[in-house]
Amino acid sequence: MHRGGWPAWPSFDERTVDAVAGAVRSGRWTVTGGWTGVDTYERRFADRFAELVGVRHCVSTDHGSSSLVLALEALGVGAGDEVVVPVLTWVATATAVLNVNAVPVFVDVDPATGCMAPEALAAALTERTTAVIAVHLNCRMADMDAILAVAAAAGVPVVEDGAQAHGARWRGRVAGSLGAVGAFSMQQGKVLTCGEGGAVVTGDDRLYDRLVQLRADSRRYRDDEPRLGDPYLTDAGDVMGTNCCLSEPQAALLLDQLDRLEAQLERREKAAAFLDRELGHVDGLHPLERSAHLERASVFRYALRCDPEALAGRPAAVVGQAIGAELGVRVHPTDEPLHRNALYCPQTKERYRGLHDRLAAAARGPFPVAERLYDELVLIPHNVLLAGDGDLDHVVEACAKVAALAGSL
Ligand SMILES: *Cc1c(COP(=O)(O)O)cnc(C)c1O
Repeated sequence: MHRGGWPAWPSFDERTVDAVAGAVRSGRWTVTGGWTGVDTYERRFADRFAELVGVRHCVSTDHGSSSLVLALEALGVGAGDEVVVPVLTWVATATAVLNVNAVPVFVDVDPATGCMAPEALAAALTERTTAVIAVHLNCRMADMDAILAVAAAAGVPVVEDGAQAHGARWRGRVAGSLGAVGAFSMQQGKVLTCGEGGAVVTGDDRLYDRLVQLRADSRRYRDDEPRLGDPYLTDAGDVMGTNCCLSEPQAALLLDQLDRLEAQLERREKAAAFLDRELGHVDGLHPLERSAHLERASVFRYALRCDPEALAGRPAAVVGQAIGAELGVRVHPTDEPLHRNALYCPQTKERYRGLHDRLAAAARGPFPVAERLYDELVLIPHNVLLAGDGDLDHVVEACAKVAALAGSL
């Protein structure tokens, strides 16, 4: 039994509080407020996040969900189009497609990683496909080499949903920089957070200009310095936008959190390598396989596959609950595959009235790999992996104990 708790999340100290206070005292609480003579927190954050991802451009947003919508709209995805989405992901990946009046077409996932299976993507492409969303899930990345090759052959752009993968690295490139656009969430549970927030990144100048306008009611940054009190954004109208702006106190929070991110990523990566090694010896529990191309995993949720045969047939939910009880954290299954997930319910909305039949057809299972992974995966939250080495021993002990006693759970 683990005592003494785990590192708290979100992680903050007095510097965090001062950073937010600075934004409050600045008197400008959003990028659409008047010019104060100094650069916005929002733009400073965007510059630093672009640098972290290794791309030319970043636009901050209010949510991960809106980041995905902006990405699709920047790419010109629209009414009646099809967008291929892995069936195993958070529901927002699919609702983003609905929110541009397109049809999310679900495909099965790779059994090794839980991320989109490239063969399934290839089989799902049609003449109506106008984009693919590859999701980097839990603590793995989608096989971007294979996915980009399949998509390129069909002339379809790839959006990376990096909401769970800030700072992950695939063959020398950071998650979000491999596809046409990368979308991120900074919601409280994610590894970089300001409560509610997001960002989109791209290396393409034209897409960037569209993303900026889509984010702020068709306005873009001015080239010249405005007079004090005048708007920082100027009317453009090349593409119809809406308001998805991040507020200045949130951007200040993100700048503070960015200072901590690299050390946290390294700490979790080290912890995950330790758990991969040690839990590899526990009968019935299997760390996910890892591609040699995944140079750095960004651990959002550390995933273990439960082998029901070695665990007396106990479901993963029961095994996870028992591990969680030993550790004093919530260890839970992965999100239910979307084709049978209660949160995916477009038939409840009149705005999709004309699409109901196509939506139902595109969401029809079975998706056997995702269904099996749902039955077998348990997820340990990322704050546990920020703990010291002695505490990580407790994770191994708890897993070994539960596995050994599975028959009596
Ligand atoms: C969290 C998450 C989102 C949505 O982000 P919000 O900021 O909550 O809107 C999208 N996709 C994935 C994979 C996520 O985990």
